[in-house]
Amino acid sequence: MTATTEVTRYKLLIGGQHVEAASGDTFPVINPATNQVIGMVAKAGPEDVERAVAAARAEFDSGAWPRTSATDRGKVVRRIADLIRERADELAQLESINTGKPITNAKNEVLSATGVFDYYAGAADKYFGETIPVADNILDFTLREPAGVCGQIVPWNFPFSMASWKVAPGLAAGCTLILKPASNTPLTALALGEICLEAGVPEGAISVLPGPGAVIGEHLATHPLVDKIAFTGETATGIQILRAAAGTVKKVSLELGGKSPNIVFADADLEKAAAFAVPAGFNNTGQTCTARTRIFVTDSSYDRFLNHLVDQTEQWTVGDPADTATRMGPLISSAQHERVANYIDIGRDEGAALIYGGVRPTAFDAGNFLQPTIFADVSNDMRIAREEIFGPVVSVIRFEDEAEVVAAANANEYGLAASVWTRDLGRAMRVAKGLRSGMVSVNSNGGPGVLGPFGGYKKSGLGRELSMHGLDLYTQVKNVYVDLGA
Ligand code: NAD
Repeated sequence: MTATTEVTRYKLLIGGQHVEAASGDTFPVINPATNQVIGMVAKAGPEDVERAVAAARAEFDSGAWPRTSATDRGKVVRRIADLIRERADELAQLESINTGKPITNAKNEVLSATGVFDYYAGAADKYFGETIPVADNILDFTLREPAGVCGQIVPWNFPFSMASWKVAPGLAAGCTLILKPASNTPLTALALGEICLEAGVPEGAISVLPGPGAVIGEHLATHPLVDKIAFTGETATGIQILRAAAGTVKKVSLELGGKSPNIVFADADLEKAAAFAVPAGFNNTGQTCTARTRIFVTDSSYDRFLNHLVDQTEQWTVGDPADTATRMGPLISSAQHERVANYIDIGRDEGAALIYGGVRPTAFDAGNFLQPTIFADVSNDMRIAREEIFGPVVSVIRFEDEAEVVAAANANEYGLAASVWTRDLGRAMRVAKGLRSGMVSVNSNGGPGVLGPFGGYKKSGLGRELSMHGLDLYTQVKNVYVDLGA
């Protein structure tokens, strides 16, 4: 099981330098498949935030990066993509050992991040202002200017991807960045910082500060010299950040939690819908914000669908993340394992039928492993159907008709993603329009990747990452009004 006794030491990256934390403190990083320590990482504190903000501010206010032409910034961003491609195997291994995600997934995520850097490399000089026809003697136009110093706070479930979604548009727009990875998973963020420097990003334009969110994240969110916070994580933390940022009226973008519906009508290809429901619920051990964890199935096809779902789930191999045949690794931490196990108890107590999984797989005593878990006969108001569990647990809920299922799908505080399965195009479109959700897939779990906007309605977030919308988050619009005279 991915055993390693080697403990590597990692420093902070501030203003181009690898440094210890000012306090000298460090914290351990764990391999979730074994719960062994794999690294000791410098633990940033308030003094380190001050150093990183000073470096980022100086670069933004008087350095080269925001003044570099958009085309040249794009070339640097392209070099980042190239360097990630060169180091893809090493980065994937680091991500896999630090998160417990299967090596195949980790490799795909790293390669997909190169696509994000490639996209914003090309987008950098294709994003500009407009002219506004005010009057014949007036020239009115808008400038898209970089937002400034940005604190970027990312979670542990997709550490490299989430960092890339923020760093790539931030750099392309000409911002200077302070990246704060989650304490569980700082390793690939530190590697990304180094890659940025190697690619030619100026030293003050990227710092990476692993450390406690409540200290560093909060300090960044309240700091008067930080212009913007981009955050991905839990809704409760996002709310805290909004509050913390209010005092300085910082620009804030938030990618938060989800409890996404997967709606399967009786006329759908049930076998395919069930086959897709498995990765939609259990990919990344269910630690996915867009996981389709509420599966609504028409009453008349409920039992047939459940049989297919169980058959497909049996193929979902839990195992060693280093094994390329593994589909699902451990949960991120023993605390997360406990949290998810607690939800399984809650589901049982609420009267849902546990029809698959629910326990640690045999032969996986070390590490935070759990079987994929299916609850049937769930009602939409049970806690397991309302709250984000963030583990491999899906709830299967019956429904009768279209209006009822749209209302039930919307009766949740989140609104991130949704899937609809039907052969009736009109119904698919009506449901897609009726869902209060940032992303809807029809007869699929998929999405457009970097080409399309990613984000949520309601308590799932504020703003949209990826696509050209992602650049809106890292720019400000300035209007210039020129009187041309007589
Ligand atoms: P989290 O909110 O605990 O932590 C996210 C980050 O915020 C970490 O870096 C953490 O150190 C930091 N943080 C913690 N407290 C803070 C505070 N008071 N101020 C500032 N920063 C603070 O989330 P997590 O457990 O790492 O990630 C899981 C959550 O992320 C889930 O809810 C998931 O749905 C969500 N998520 C959303 C998306 C999306 O795009 N919508 C993507 C991935 C994950």
